[in-house]
Amino acid sequence: MSAPQLVSWNLTRRCNLACGHCYLDAVQRKSEAPGELSTEAALRVIDEIAGAAPGAMLVLTGGEPLLRADLVGSGDAGRSRRADAGDRHQRRAAR
Ligand code: SF4
Repeated sequence: MSAPQLVSWNLTRRCNLACGHCYLDAVQRKSEAPGELSTEAALRVIDEIAGAAPGAMLVLTGGEPLLRADLVGSGDAGRSRRADAGDRHQRRAAR
């Protein structure tokens, strides 16, 4: 089985809207939704994704991901880990 090319992650169940058809049963709130990962846990997940699917496109979605104050940091982490994983993958392929 080959590694995924794209990983879509529902980063939060928070949302500004409350659509009746919402597949996430998104909630309107300012603070973390129940069961939402902390920043540290989210960064660990990004590391795991980078390890399992090097070079994959990581789509951070929700809910409304912009309601997470740590979104920019998580996005930067995802970008740098993707680059790191891509470098490792290229080094491995060059051997
Ligand atoms: S996540 Fe999408 S479907 Fe759900 S409430 Fe928000 S806008 Fe609506």
